[in-house]
Amino acid sequence: MRGKWGGGAALAAVAAQVGPAVTWLPAARRALAPGLAGRGPRGGVALTFDDGPHPEATPAILDVLDRLGWTATFFVLGEQVRRYADVATEVVRRGHEVALHGDAHRYLIARTPRAARDDLHRAFDTVAALTGQPPLWWRPPYGVLSGPALVAARGLGVRPVLWSAWGRDWRSAATGESVVADLERGEVDGGMLLLHDSDLTSDPGAWRSTVAALPLLAERLGAGGLAVRTVGEHVRR
Ligand SMILES: [Zn+2]
Repeated sequence: MRGKWGGGAALAAVAAQVGPAVTWLPAARRALAPGLAGRGPRGGVALTFDDGPHPEATPAILDVLDRLGWTATFFVLGEQVRRYADVATEVVRRGHEVALHGDAHRYLIARTPRAARDDLHRAFDTVAALTGQPPLWWRPPYGVLSGPALVAARGLGVRPVLWSAWGRDWRSAATGESVVADLERGEVDGGMLLLHDSDLTSDPGAWRSTVAALPLLAERLGAGGLAVRTVGEHVRR
């Protein structure tokens, strides 16, 4: 049922007119489509990881999530899933949700409409076949949407979501403390938190700051009485 974002055609038209880069701006995102920032009910957050699976980072993060009793959503890349299919299946086996980031990590607006469509279809088919879990959500690389990709996403039944807070955990200078502090600069309560379980597009090993951040984040969320959810639990479709 596509009713919840039945404005999809309108959204695609708006995005095409104002230009995709506008989706970088939180205020513009809110104005364009409130659901795009991935906001859900207060009292909880959706926890999300991009750019995986990664042979070291993803298992390390899965272990911390197990200890914390959290389930999260992993926005994976098709080419990484094909390379590390065992890691991708482990994500699902441990009760997490897999979603689409794309097939290759490239700006969609730098590609032809056909290449953008093909990228999304290939990623969808890969994730569905290798994890057994057809994805329901899509976050494009760099958060930059394109009209043709939005149309393809609607055809596949995947809904675009971005984020409301990020930990800037792609930097070698990031620490567990800095990641939590950066997240808290965004909209946390009822929001969608963006982290990375890979250094594919990050400084080498930057994901260690993500691993260090999770227990600290648990303290802060616990103090605020905020539950951790997957995207599917957090956002109404
Ligand atoms: Zn990414």
